[in-house]
Amino acid sequence: MIDIKLEHIVKKYTSDVIAVDDLSLNFEPGSFVCLLGPSGCGKTTTLRMISGLERANDGIITVGGEIFDAPKQNIFVRPEHRKLGLVFQSYALWPHMTVQENVDFGLKLKKISKEERCRIVDESLDLLRMGAYRKRYPAELSGGQQQRVALARMLAVQPGILLLDEPLSNLDAALRLEMRSELKSLHERLGSTIVFVTHDQLEAMSLATHVAVMNEGKLEQYADPMTIYLKPATEFVATFVGSPPMNMVGFSDSEGQRWKEPFKKAVAAFRQMDGNDKRISKVGFRAEAVTLQRSDDTLLLKQNQTCIKGRVKAVLPTGPEQIVSIVVDDDQFYVVTPPSHFFENGQAVDMVIDLTMIHMFDQNGLRV
Ligand code: ATP
Repeated sequence: MIDIKLEHIVKKYTSDVIAVDDLSLNFEPGSFVCLLGPSGCGKTTTLRMISGLERANDGIITVGGEIFDAPKQNIFVRPEHRKLGLVFQSYALWPHMTVQENVDFGLKLKKISKEERCRIVDESLDLLRMGAYRKRYPAELSGGQQQRVALARMLAVQPGILLLDEPLSNLDAALRLEMRSELKSLHERLGSTIVFVTHDQLEAMSLATHVAVMNEGKLEQYADPMTIYLKPATEFVATFVGSPPMNMVGFSDSEGQRWKEPFKKAVAAFRQMDGNDKRISKVGFRAEAVTLQRSDDTLLLKQNQTCIKGRVKAVLPTGPEQIVSIVVDDDQFYVVTPPSHFFENGQAVDMVIDLTMIHMFDQNGLRV
């Protein structure tokens, strides 16, 4: 079990492209860490620095107690000496080798018996449902199949650290789900430290022991998935994680002086929940904090509830539930209801909000 430590890492591609900006993170041995964030936030660059494919401009990267990269101390361990398993979105399979030979390649370097190698190759290919394709060349495979071979090749050598950059991006929904559960049980079995890059928050939430949410090269929050979901440290995390995204009620003008009329009563109720009310700039509530009812039904608010009135803009059925989008002036909110609850476009509705489930943020977007 190996740990990874990033201390004040900076990566600049040019003077005006700072891909990673003073990033500090500790990956505990055996953890499954997802680097999560929007496109261009520096996830891949971080992974490439851990692997040694990219050099940091500043900071220290330590893996298993050994410094791999420390520009100020003039230390840099080359990627081939880092003994890490790597799978990138572009699979980098050897084009002149069959599937079987590709998976066997890393094992040959390990100098183990041929019989043992055959057993491991079979096992890895079976696990990734690629046994039937063993004699094919990469060019004869689909993108998703190539991705699975790349994963099998990495798993075969059982590295102590697995670095995965969107390794499931080319799989269809069913296979993706299956591979997620394979990866998760594999992690539990092997105990390897896994760093997994994704912009898919569902993937991160369902796989990781720890999630690092990044935005514009900086770390927004590093915590276990449920803490990220239930106690987002910043407004960015609150709106990036969760589907539908967290609803936000903000000030009405850029100076942050007035709350819009339809929200005034609710905000007064929100403020009662906060001992230090001056600091609140935005209030957030997730879809599950809201009970939706028609405005012509009798409204009976309990002590820990408040209400915002709006109109249905659209009803989006997903099967087991429906997402109802609601407009209040020019703001839009999302609520989830059972499919049996009938709402139609233009209908006047009351969003009854559970005040014990609200989130408050200050002017800098930090959780209050
Ligand atoms: P995605 O999810 O789209 O892959 P990402 O979060 O992995 O994005 P990075 O690929 O790490 O983001 O890129 C971070 C920033 O660095 C982006 O602004 C990107 O344009 C820039 N960048 C990445 N690679 C290079 C490069 N080789 N040269 C110059 N700029 C680069």
